[in-house]
Amino acid sequence: MFDALSTKLTGAFSSLRSRGKLSTTDIENTCAEIKAALLESDVALSVVDSFIDLIREKSLAALPTLQSGSNQAQAIFEIVNAELIEILGGAARRVRLAKNPPTVIMLAGLQGAGKTTLAGKLAKFYLDQGNTPLLVASDLQRPNAVTQLQVVGESVGVPVFAPEPGNGVGNPVKVAEQALAFAKSKLHNMVIVDTAGRLGVDQELMQQAIDIRDAVKPDEILFVVDAMIGQDAVRTAKAFQDGVGFDGVVLTKLDGDARGGAALSIAKLTGLPIMFSSNGEKLTDFDIFYPERMASRILGMGDVATLAEQAKKALDTDSSAKLEEKFARGDDFTLEDFLEQLEAMSKMGSMSKLLGMLPGAGAMKKQIDNFDESEIVRTKSIVQSMTPLERQDPKVLNGSRRARIALGAGRKVQDVNALVDKFSAAQKMMRQMRNGGGMPPAMAQSMGMPAGMGAGPMGVKKGQAPSKKKSKSGNPAKRAAEERG
Ligand code: GDP
Repeated sequence: MFDALSTKLTGAFSSLRSRGKLSTTDIENTCAEIKAALLESDVALSVVDSFIDLIREKSLAALPTLQSGSNQAQAIFEIVNAELIEILGGAARRVRLAKNPPTVIMLAGLQGAGKTTLAGKLAKFYLDQGNTPLLVASDLQRPNAVTQLQVVGESVGVPVFAPEPGNGVGNPVKVAEQALAFAKSKLHNMVIVDTAGRLGVDQELMQQAIDIRDAVKPDEILFVVDAMIGQDAVRTAKAFQDGVGFDGVVLTKLDGDARGGAALSIAKLTGLPIMFSSNGEKLTDFDIFYPERMASRILGMGDVATLAEQAKKALDTDSSAKLEEKFARGDDFTLEDFLEQLEAMSKMGSMSKLLGMLPGAGAMKKQIDNFDESEIVRTKSIVQSMTPLERQDPKVLNGSRRARIALGAGRKVQDVNALVDKFSAAQKMMRQMRNGGGMPPAMAQSMGMPAGMGAGPMGVKKGQAPSKKKSKSGNPAKRAAEERG
């Protein structure tokens, strides 16, 4: 969503870095460029003005104390980064848990903002942390909202309190009240209340939200807002703040390609933190909102912290530990392991989203957008069409086995050949790493790989060289050529 903004800000800083000693005019020009970029991406004018004033003031004050151009440019970059973090709300704040459970979280916002979807995401997020959430269907207005919540609840394995059919029938305040009593009796430690929205702010909507608020006294009211709606996001946030009041904001649809700058102004204008962000329809497209990580992305430095977290989450510790043990024993990396790694990669979610978190991703936008997500699925289907023996020892893959696998996976034999070749190359690399050329531990760790894989000779003691048996290619054509040669 912030690609265009990010590209412009990155451009402003790279031209600043290329100057010699900076003058006050350079600072003025950079401020003008940053201001234009923020306004173009729809950040609220008052926020932009005070932001630019601060940056100008701090940069001009810092200028005489710094020597070379690149140092000066870096100092100014850091000033902008710090102020951007401030605009985005400063330090991240977590949901306050009630001293006497259940913790009640109420979701408010316009219809279509993504409340019901978010309810499911929050339920999963807290369930994964060992909580026992209960979802409450108090949106009795929007057609199918109750059924949608039930479906979402079922898919994450969280019960849904839904005594009323919805679609205009039932009293949402009573439902919320009863849900609280139900949660206490069933020892749920968290209650997530989905409420109704309207297409625009209206008094009836506000009153209903106020009544639910007064009935269940939430520990947190989260205002859910679609970042794609531009300046309306700010207006509705202010209206809800005055009408119902809330404790934090959730930005949704950050995956959209609209200019989302308005949403970035919300924290500053309401004085309340953005707590979570949602960037897709899938239940995993959701994260805690960290102002510093968002600032880093906007300034083109990527979001390596989130990337590393997702990698860690995806590679479940069991399979990592198993792989590590295998390497320690000196066993080879097999297609079975490869399949497990592919499955872990699919669990990490969309590859384009992951690649988008890399530093400089803005410049690679086109390639990232064109990334073929189905490649992993196709590769998996080929490996899944192999027998356990073939996965264990791809050298047995003769022509007829390859033809059978291709047929089973609905692919061409060439695709099977290409995969086996790629796998052999990966296997060779793994062997080389085992023999001492490991990747830096931090990198291996950030990729969620087993510790030993990053640490030089992967668990293999000195002198305990792996078998040097010369391997033959499993590709019949290559093998024949090897044998001839
Ligand atoms: P509610 O009326 O506030 O409960 O909104 P819903 O949860 O029903 O969401 C409205 C639509 O937005 C649905 O089609 C969702 O799948 C979609 N949606 C919700 N969150 C996101 C998001 O972060 N990104 C995208 N692209 N779509 C979303």
